[in-house]
Amino acid sequence: IGRRVGIDVGGTKALGVALDADGEVVAEDRRPTPRGDGSIDALLDTLVELAESLGVDADLGIGVPGLVTRDGRLRAAPNLDGVADLPIGELLGERLGFDVRVDNDATCATVAEWRNGVGIGTDDLLLVTLGTGIGGGVVANGTLQRGTNGFAGEFGHMVVDPHGPRCPCGRQGCWERYASGSGLAMLAREAATGHRLRAVVEHADGDAQAVRGEHVMAAALDGDTEALAVIDDFGRWVALGLSNLTNVFDPEIFVLGGGLAAGAELYLEPITRWYGELLYQPHLRPLPRIEFARWGPLAGAVGAALLSSIPD
Ligand code: BGC
Ligand code: ZN
Repeated sequence: IGRRVGIDVGGTKALGVALDADGEVVAEDRRPTPRGDGSIDALLDTLVELAESLGVDADLGIGVPGLVTRDGRLRAAPNLDGVADLPIGELLGERLGFDVRVDNDATCATVAEWRNGVGIGTDDLLLVTLGTGIGGGVVANGTLQRGTNGFAGEFGHMVVDPHGPRCPCGRQGCWERYASGSGLAMLAREAATGHRLRAVVEHADGDAQAVRGEHVMAAALDGDTEALAVIDDFGRWVALGLSNLTNVFDPEIFVLGGGLAAGAELYLEPITRWYGELLYQPHLRPLPRIEFARWGPLAGAVGAALLSSIPD
């Protein structure tokens, strides 16, 4: 058998991996995600090129950041400009000459962590990706849940404040406005008004409005107390969503993935502490484990490569 290749299409980059027969990553490559006019054709070109650079033979899976129908059509992607209703699986299949599987990016990450990551052996797992947006995946009772339309697990658009900031999905106060990479940046920019957060703003070349999540992380890793306070606030927002999800699913384990998984050691303590405080009836159950993805920021791509091995 040839190589299994998986690509995770994100708002800023497409990240691809090739797996060997044991499911280990043997090659990795990335390209910027094309944006703006003509970006659909450019996107398809990029994906074909990336798959070929990874030695794709006839087994390719793609994870995309939006609502994907059970037959591989990307219907909406709030964080990918200009993409609405794209039969991406079919279009890529025509170009490559074999069937290409497509699923939601976070569903892919869930497959990676459940089948070959920190969630091996569990029947009740929730995965949350913290990146540009927030994605989700659900394993309940030993089965991957996709919902009637394939749209299950859209945790990022649970509204946590109906009067909150506008979300690219068209509504207000979605969880991903607070607990994603862009949410962390927003919390930091808010805190930076009025000359606070000097160390964080320095990491953003002195421009408070240019502060991004990575600047907060950099200052926090230097031990800056104001940056650590923003991370703590961020941890509370993450934990709020996790505690709500616990009420719905009663999981055994939460797996946290996405770009922010790179800063796991900074986030885990505040998230776990706030989760313990916010959870309903914590004394009646062992606290679900909260762990960062074994595959870190590669989880989506690894799971995309495994799509052919799980039932539709
Ligand atoms: C989208 C999800 C996606 C997530 C992570 C959200 O905004 O609605 O479908 O999984 O971002 O990319
Ligand atoms: Zn939203």
